[in-house]
Amino acid sequence: MHDLSPFKSDFAVFSSPDNTELCYLDSAATCLTPKVVAEAMYQYQNFAHANSHKGLYRLSAGATELVEQSRGLVAQFIGADTNELVFTQGTTEGINLVANSFVRPRLSAANNIVISCAEHHANLLPWQRLCRQSGAELRLAPLTPQGLIDVEAFAALLDDNTCFIAVCHISNVLGALNPVEQVCRLAREKSIPVLIDGAQAVSHGPVDVKKIACDFYAFSGHKLYGPVGCGVLFARADLIEVMEPDLLGGGIVEQVSLSETRFIKGPMKFEPGSHNVAAICGLVAAIDYIQAIGWPELLAYMNGLSAYLHQQLADLAFIKPLMPAAPGAWLNSFQCRGVHSHDVAGMLDGDDIAVRAGHHCAQPLHHSLGLKSSVRVSLGLYNGREDIDRLAAGLRNTYQLLAAD
Ligand code: PMP
Repeated sequence: MHDLSPFKSDFAVFSSPDNTELCYLDSAATCLTPKVVAEAMYQYQNFAHANSHKGLYRLSAGATELVEQSRGLVAQFIGADTNELVFTQGTTEGINLVANSFVRPRLSAANNIVISCAEHHANLLPWQRLCRQSGAELRLAPLTPQGLIDVEAFAALLDDNTCFIAVCHISNVLGALNPVEQVCRLAREKSIPVLIDGAQAVSHGPVDVKKIACDFYAFSGHKLYGPVGCGVLFARADLIEVMEPDLLGGGIVEQVSLSETRFIKGPMKFEPGSHNVAAICGLVAAIDYIQAIGWPELLAYMNGLSAYLHQQLADLAFIKPLMPAAPGAWLNSFQCRGVHSHDVAGMLDGDDIAVRAGHHCAQPLHHSLGLKSSVRVSLGLYNGREDIDRLAAGLRNTYQLLAAD
């Protein structure tokens, strides 16, 4: 493997004079954007921008066509049907949509909702609030020592009163691929609907929502080399029809009188207001970018790089991973002995190395490990071994200068 990524030159950020030395290791927060994505957004915004689905003139019809073609392409990318794909602003909005439009009307004090204890706050807070409001119980499934959802313990939490299940495909702190097919199989045996938070998983290999057999799957474009502001919610077609939109506005109605509203059918009833067409174009360009590389090549590169990351960190005796590094995890969260996580990130920033420090929107997970924070390093296509070598040198330096022990 080369020291520099063969994909690095696809990303304009590194050619800017301010960023020639940038070592970006925070892709789990957001991926940097390849030029083709920015170009697609630029083209649309400069030369094709209009309000989609509303105007009867050529430019607006073009924007409508872009959105609807994109819906089909993005649906194909995750193995869904076109009429099952809702454009959202991101994973957070998708999960809230399901909480408010699907779960809330079906939840009573007798029910429970099961999630895992590794959830991002986006897949915890909506359920926590619904449970508090309804009197239902929120159950947290434990993890195996390897940081995966413990399927046996998970199964033991399900009962006839379980109303909903929501788990992450990959935790943004631990990085391991959860056995979501098994979770969905257990759920199906009891007819419990399942949402998968796919924010971290969608860039980690092909996702097929039909194979997973989930009812809902949410992800964000910006974790897939696309722009912020465009995400996706897959919702099973029959469920879309029984859900009422929570967010209300223009473009989602068949008929409105002053006292009543009849909503349109299909996914667009969850997309009130004006579409973010530029971001949708960017998402499609990101998917094209990934598909042009091809999953086999992308996975071979990233898995090789992640093995190198875990090895380099394992060689540093003062680095303590939160959990044993999961094979294939493209991130590693750890503590540096005797140095606060924020100080580690601050020191690395001095060498233009960008990592995340804090609880990564997963406070209960950190709490369950007896921690308040950690450092997280996460990889993207632009990273090469050189970045990991710089990280290791930066960590050594940090430890030598700051460690209290
Ligand atoms: N879930 C997970 C596992 C995530 O990593 C993130 C982003 N850090 C989210 C949900 C929320 O995604 P967004 O901020 O794009 O809505």
